[in-house]
Amino acid sequence: METATATATATEEYRPEAAGGSARGHGPSLRNHSRKPPAASRRVARGLPPVVLCCLFLPAVASTQTFTHADTLRGSNTPQRAWWDAAFYDLHVKVNPTDSSIAGYNAITYRILKPAPRREMQIDLQMPLVVDSIVQDGLELSARRDGNAFFVTLIAPQRVGTKKSIAIYYHGKPTTAVRAPWDGGFVWARDSLGRRWVVTANEGLGASVWWPNKDYLGDEPDSQRIAITVPDSLLDVSNGRLRSTTPNSDGSVTYEWFVTNPINNYDVAVNSGHYAHYTDVFEGENGKLTLDFYPLDYHLDTAKRQFQQVTPMLQCFETWFGPYPWYNDGYKLVETPHLGMEHQSAVAYGNQYKNGYLGHDRSATGRGMEWDFIIIHESAHEWWGNNITMKDQADMWIHESFATYAEGLYTECQQGKKAGQEYTIGQRKLIRNDKPIIAAYGVNAEGSGDMYDKGGNMLLTIRQLVDDDARWRGILRGLNKTFWHQTVTTKQVEDYISRGSGMNLGKVFDQYLRTTKIPTLEYKLQGQKLSYRWSNVVPGFAMPVKVTTSTGRYGWIRPTESWKSMAVKLGRPEDFSVDESFYVNARDVLKPAADSTATGRTAR
Ligand SMILES: [Zn+2]
Repeated sequence: METATATATATEEYRPEAAGGSARGHGPSLRNHSRKPPAASRRVARGLPPVVLCCLFLPAVASTQTFTHADTLRGSNTPQRAWWDAAFYDLHVKVNPTDSSIAGYNAITYRILKPAPRREMQIDLQMPLVVDSIVQDGLELSARRDGNAFFVTLIAPQRVGTKKSIAIYYHGKPTTAVRAPWDGGFVWARDSLGRRWVVTANEGLGASVWWPNKDYLGDEPDSQRIAITVPDSLLDVSNGRLRSTTPNSDGSVTYEWFVTNPINNYDVAVNSGHYAHYTDVFEGENGKLTLDFYPLDYHLDTAKRQFQQVTPMLQCFETWFGPYPWYNDGYKLVETPHLGMEHQSAVAYGNQYKNGYLGHDRSATGRGMEWDFIIIHESAHEWWGNNITMKDQADMWIHESFATYAEGLYTECQQGKKAGQEYTIGQRKLIRNDKPIIAAYGVNAEGSGDMYDKGGNMLLTIRQLVDDDARWRGILRGLNKTFWHQTVTTKQVEDYISRGSGMNLGKVFDQYLRTTKIPTLEYKLQGQKLSYRWSNVVPGFAMPVKVTTSTGRYGWIRPTESWKSMAVKLGRPEDFSVDESFYVNARDVLKPAADSTATGRTAR
């Protein structure tokens, strides 16, 4: 891990004047960029912990980050983005492995929601890629470049309520991912036979690292074509369904894939290699779901064994979360040279056909060795992340906390409720409490990696509060139904769970998502009198918790920040413990500080 390098915390507001150029001025021509790249380099050096998660970004700087104007352009719904709504991306990209270059265009169809400020439209494409031209209604348009954002000056009338299209032609050598999936870009790999294997992964960094779009998570197109041209020795597997395969005269072949659902842009992927292909059908809640598997050709037999886990995974997750969200786009599992990523309807798989996480159990309970981490975790994102998508990177817990909790639920489906709970509790030793899970808004910032294991444990804790598995399942399914194919805020998710549980959980979310403090139950046993209160909590925190109220039996108490007391029937003080499925600490205030935790029952 790199150490913190910055101390300021101010989030720069988006100021149109600061975006370069006067209100009416035309910026530099597209081929004459004079600006230096923005300070996106802070995303480049991310440390890997001893145990790493797929798609887990561990920011190189601590909570005191400095955000730049470029971060605001990337991470907020700027005025030049907010007036239009992406309806369709028609993406065509030719991939040239011999010189690691790409060329193509994206024709964007969009709805006009309101008048365009200064007749400008923001399109994002990251350097060093080069925009060749931007065309609307047959006319080439000018644009001013501000880092990785292009502000296109529109000529044609943009009538509110109508749809228009604009095409962005581009080429160049896109950023190469060095440590995919933790950084982003193109991966120009070779398989073990030395053959080309070219894929993309770009969560966090953004889809604009390889194709032009509105690189803002709050706006997904309703559908998308992904036409990828590769050398004809390669098979490309992208998202959705394959509509056509067209050989070209230059020894290349174009694979036209089509996604008929909203898709978050970072999920759009190239996977081109020497794949075998086999299929299956899952009889699910919404009928027949096609399963398409694309292992490397020499892994076909191994894959046919390992990928059998897909069917029980789908059964378990449909039970807990509701129907798989993309029946018409199918489910695919595609082998990749990187560990994995939740690419929508085309999950990237690189877990070496091993159970656990690259062959070991993140929970250290042994429970995680019974299933393949990448199949389970990444597929859970089809519900948590792809069906329900964060509007802002700051709310990435909506993806990762639920996907991590889903690992425990899958363990429960396979091995029983107690085993599932053990798995999630086992992940507590990976919690750092280094900074809050929710990061700064509007700057494409990610919060603590605790969004995984701590977030999963927060959900396990809330399940205890709900104290009714049918109701809890109803909440998880209800979230997926209510926010079906939508982008959401944390507040929407919090409010839904509070309503569904019949409890105001606002302080619980504040505590776990917005602070690094573990609630501590302070208690003292004097004879058969138990006194207790919460400390280390946000003001007003009053979460009920289960403790031993008589030897071997748990009952609810409702602590606040003030001392309360009750009669209990405990033989010895050592008989007191807090139900370990709550992620809290406990401290006997009558004991010396070093020896004050309720043995074996504290948060791990
Ligand atoms: Zn994940």
